[in-house]
Amino acid sequence: MLNLHTCGDGIYVFDAAYLKPGLAAIHLIVEDGRAAFVDTGVASSLPNALAALQTLGLDVCAVDYVILTHVHLDHAGGAGVMMRRFPDARLVVHPRGARHMVDPSKLVAGAAAVYGEAYMRKVYGEIAPIAAHRIIAAEDGDVVTLAGRSLRCFDTPGHALHHICILDGKSGGIFTGDACGLAYAALDVGERRFIVPATTPSQFDPEAMRASIEHLRVLNPTALYLPHYGRVENVAQTLTDLLRRLDDIVTLARREYVGEEAAARLQRALTDYLFSEARAHGSPLDDAALAEVLGMDIGLNVQGLAHWLNTEK
Ligand SMILES: [Zn+2]
Repeated sequence: MLNLHTCGDGIYVFDAAYLKPGLAAIHLIVEDGRAAFVDTGVASSLPNALAALQTLGLDVCAVDYVILTHVHLDHAGGAGVMMRRFPDARLVVHPRGARHMVDPSKLVAGAAAVYGEAYMRKVYGEIAPIAAHRIIAAEDGDVVTLAGRSLRCFDTPGHALHHICILDGKSGGIFTGDACGLAYAALDVGERRFIVPATTPSQFDPEAMRASIEHLRVLNPTALYLPHYGRVENVAQTLTDLLRRLDDIVTLARREYVGEEAAARLQRALTDYLFSEARAHGSPLDDAALAEVLGMDIGLNVQGLAHWLNTEK
């Protein structure tokens, strides 16, 4: 399912077809007939990227940039196959991610350690290398220009050390990657979105995450564009909720990740916490439905919190 929507200002969002509908989005910025993708999904996301271009009357040669918010494979796994298909595109990526796009072997090994080899092959498919001369390593503050439209990159560690966010000069919106957490449509209550920090392994750092969120907040964005999933309009309130939940989760992790079965204990506590937050937000979903939406992320978040606490000690 493509599920292509316009967000206004030449910004489009569509489904990356990663694992299940509504889980991962790809954004597309169009300016004066030129295009930039923000994040790529995985190799099997390419048909949707091509369908989005076609729907908008754009050719593969209209793509000037493929921008990666970070090199976790649900965002960057498809970058190599996309770059192969878009002959004039350059890849924009954090300097710490650039070498992994030239030679993805370490990235693949790292993800295999988290997810397992069989899962890797099945879910991520081909992870193709990208020629170094096609890659722009975006330092903090660097601007790439799409037909005159400025896209400013900010170094935003906390979720990952290879993470950038992109401020769109035209709309004033920010493409957040996973720096500002996750908000799934199934947990929306009216216009209000339910935001959850993404504490995924293996570089989660709560202080850096807080600093990155504060940095973005000062830019006073008109909207946030989340890969998981879509546009957030009520930015001030959403970021306030996000920072409060980040603090709560750090406190909870320090308290619960102890003793035998520490991970299972933390998993139960984080599940209880997020379910009660979702209900306080107004979600009518029962436990099974909430688990369906958040279960996978809770598992990853527990792994990331555990890794952070283990390496901190
Ligand atoms: Zn990520």
